[in-house]
Amino acid sequence: MNMAQNDRDVVVRNEGGAEYGIRYRRIRYPRLEFKTGNLLLVLPLAYRDEALLLRRHERWINRRIGMINEALAESGNLTLVMRTEEEFRSLTVGILQKYEGLSGGRVNKIYFRRMNSKWASYSKRNDITINKMMQYLPDKLLSYVIFHELTHAVERRHNANFWRHIEKSFSNHDDLEKQLFSYWFLLQTRRNDVEKVLGQANKGLYFK
Ligand SMILES: [Zn+2]
Repeated sequence: MNMAQNDRDVVVRNEGGAEYGIRYRRIRYPRLEFKTGNLLLVLPLAYRDEALLLRRHERWINRRIGMINEALAESGNLTLVMRTEEEFRSLTVGILQKYEGLSGGRVNKIYFRRMNSKWASYSKRNDITINKMMQYLPDKLLSYVIFHELTHAVERRHNANFWRHIEKSFSNHDDLEKQLFSYWFLLQTRRNDVEKVLGQANKGLYFK
């Protein structure tokens, strides 16, 4: 059976006026997700208790919204780095070479792709995929993301062992993760502006 035929996406509005999306799937249990700041309810096909679900998870939802608002406010203070795609790629390769030995990860292939849900990923075949939006991140965040992905070669999951490895080189990882979260919002919401400006900007120029 083609599952996609039965999936429906609906956008609804709750009583408070806040917008959220509903996606029906052939799943057994409902779940809540945040996609770049927007609440999404993923529900079994016959599920009709949205109001109850929202009430039950109100605290979690509000906490997430608080984090998102904080990230958005913070993103106003962030600086995007303007570098050419060529500069970005060679910088990325340089960082990869530097960290390959350190983290224990060994990279087979590097892919640069536009991704909508993550900065980078590392496959079981040791291929690393870098989100093209990383072109605008400061060097230290680029380094952190790459080191983070390479560390997944020794530890797939985000467990204590994983963070022990990370801490050897990035003891401030909590702060870096927070910054990445803010940059994510900035780049997702201002993607078109960013690319327009990049087209006109001189190499090495920074802007807010
Ligand atoms: Zn990870």
